[in-house]
Amino acid sequence: MKIKIWGARGSLPAPLTPVQVEDRIKKSIQGFLAAGFRDAVEVSRFLSAQAHHQLGGYGGNTPCIEVFTESSQIIVDGGSGLRPLGYELLGGPCGKGTGEVHLVFTHFHWDHLIGLPFFVPFFIPGNTIHVYAVQEDLPDVFKTVFKKPYFPVPLENLGAKIVYHRLEPRVANKIGDIQFTPYQLDHPDPCWGYKFESGGRTYSHAVDTECTRVSRKDLGPDLPLYQNVDLMVFDSQYTLMETIEKVNWGHAAATLGLDIAMREGIKRVLFMHHDPASSDEKIAAAEIQSRRYYNNQLKDAQRVREPAPSVEWEYAREGMVVEV
Ligand SMILES: [Zn+2]
Ligand SMILES: [Zn+2]
Repeated sequence: MKIKIWGARGSLPAPLTPVQVEDRIKKSIQGFLAAGFRDAVEVSRFLSAQAHHQLGGYGGNTPCIEVFTESSQIIVDGGSGLRPLGYELLGGPCGKGTGEVHLVFTHFHWDHLIGLPFFVPFFIPGNTIHVYAVQEDLPDVFKTVFKKPYFPVPLENLGAKIVYHRLEPRVANKIGDIQFTPYQLDHPDPCWGYKFESGGRTYSHAVDTECTRVSRKDLGPDLPLYQNVDLMVFDSQYTLMETIEKVNWGHAAATLGLDIAMREGIKRVLFMHHDPASSDEKIAAAEIQSRRYYNNQLKDAQRVREPAPSVEWEYAREGMVVEV
């Protein structure tokens, strides 16, 4: 099983401005020359040594994650990252009008819906788009998204057939060789994370969440979302300081995800839902701050002679493909 991050930004798409792009190009050329390089064949070598925030950054599209195996595919959320994913699907059965798409929703805040009207497989007759949510108002949400004056094409004229599926909390479902189970997250409106399992590997999707329930006791029936997990994607919209200012805003800091991952033995974590107000430089600085926190936690564990619960982790970037 693999996942692909089609959108790692939260709340609102946040593309780089032309001035930011120009500035990055200028700094790269200056760095190339300052490092003593003069030959164009050395450009790739120079760039591969640069930090992500000095090049493409973390990406501007809002949440959309593809979970896939050789034979099955599930898409989590319809943020603006869904638009480029739709174009890619046109190369397969969706382009011929014989495609089946499975789209699972965590919740219906705009940043998780805005890609829907621009997902081209919807407009090709013959395609079947299965949509899934725990929330009962899923059909009403679709009617609203594809409604004048918000969008010119009403739902009944889309072309593809839409099939609604209501999910039961904490009950497993299966699509092909991927099993998935919804668990509740902590967000201002009802929001559900998912645990995906295939071939003995497990991916947990925990975005958007403030994770106000942290202890095993408080997490109660939703604790399995964080247990026996190979890869977790976790909410890191804010820095630790910002979470203190933004109580009840529904998002977390990476430090909280690291605490849970270390406690539960989660092997790998990607942090996403980056704040649209944060520049790539600020996100990179937050990542360094989280690294310091993590290293201190490791040292503390070693001091009391507990086995050091090492976790592989980084901040997610749009376009990343990760083996679970
Ligand atoms: Zn969101
Ligand atoms: Zn939200």
